[in-house]
Amino acid sequence: MVEDIFGKIPEYLLKAILYLQNYYPFYFEVMLNMEIIKVESETMKQQVPTAGVRVNKNVIELMYNDDWLKTFTTPEIVFILKHEIFHILLKAHQRCKSRNQKLFNIAQDMVINNLLKNTFGHKIDEEKLQPLFPPSEYHDEIITEKLYDWIYEKAKKNGKGKGEKGEGDGQKENFDVHLEDIDCPEEVRELITERIVSICKARGLVTSNEENILTYLRPKRKTYIDEMMMLLSNTIGLKKKLTWSRENKYGLCMRGYKRVRNKVNVILDTSGSMWGELIQKMLSFIIRNNVEIFLVQNDTEVKDHKLIRRMKELNSMKIHGGGGTIMQPAINFLIKNKMNDYPTIMLTDGYTDTLNFSMLKNKMLILTSGQHCELEGKKNHVRQIKVDVL
Ligand SMILES: [Zn+2]
Repeated sequence: MVEDIFGKIPEYLLKAILYLQNYYPFYFEVMLNMEIIKVESETMKQQVPTAGVRVNKNVIELMYNDDWLKTFTTPEIVFILKHEIFHILLKAHQRCKSRNQKLFNIAQDMVINNLLKNTFGHKIDEEKLQPLFPPSEYHDEIITEKLYDWIYEKAKKNGKGKGEKGEGDGQKENFDVHLEDIDCPEEVRELITERIVSICKARGLVTSNEENILTYLRPKRKTYIDEMMMLLSNTIGLKKKLTWSRENKYGLCMRGYKRVRNKVNVILDTSGSMWGELIQKMLSFIIRNNVEIFLVQNDTEVKDHKLIRRMKELNSMKIHGGGGTIMQPAINFLIKNKMNDYPTIMLTDGYTDTLNFSMLKNKMLILTSGQHCELEGKKNHVRQIKVDVL
């Protein structure tokens, strides 16, 4: 059923969204992936007196209080919207770890507002909105973790002076609220963001300036889980796939929702026992993200295949180990079973026959515990990474 996601949005907010569409298409695209929610009840208004974002299951929710938001001009609302979008893009929630949440939010808010003011040149009435900026005494790099350390030290000193333990007490807060995610594991949240960013990149919406901002401001880490997430980012993510439907009188394209079923192929080289519990970890990661696994076990030929839908099925899975390593039969098996449209992950030690993935249409990730596999034919959709086992 087509759902009109802009239907209930007041005109002043639509104006700001249109402004984004015209001048900042990347942020507009991110907004299209959010559910925009006006808080109605008194309890919710108390929780969200201004605006804030959270992920509720698989959906990004932008919540706003109409009484507050409507008092701002279009450029100011654009500033506020972009501030919230950056909370999602910069992965604010995952990066806090064991730090003081309140202070971490403050540091993140300062970084975002600084970006909007100094990099994007957004002009706003600072008296009215009261955004937080990095203190003028702070001279280091404007990155959340570094700024956090600085504010934390300062808060500790101030706290001591007053004989209090409360870190962050007395620190002024930003205009928005920072809501807890609901029922959304960290990896899923990250996948949702990755998926949106990769769609925007593929559509040419991310300018080199924005690309620089994103690489500079987001934490860097590369593990097999990241590689898997990149591979799966088109498969996992929003539980409903957004599709373009029709245009409304404002010229905004609206989107409808269509349910999709997600699958991934996993080819397991069972010639050795080199993967240990990594297999279980990896497969359960995929299942937890609501993706079905078409699992093919292969040593010199296909020994077993199974569609795994639930954790229970995963736990009762048996591994059929064996002799040498000839993996091409597993690839041919996927093609024969018409599974070549789905992304594929292969776990192997890499000491295989020369492999040909030309017929697999989706992305292919090889996780190898030994050496890189030898490849032939079309291979620009294939990515190989060496993984440390155990
Ligand atoms: Zn904020």
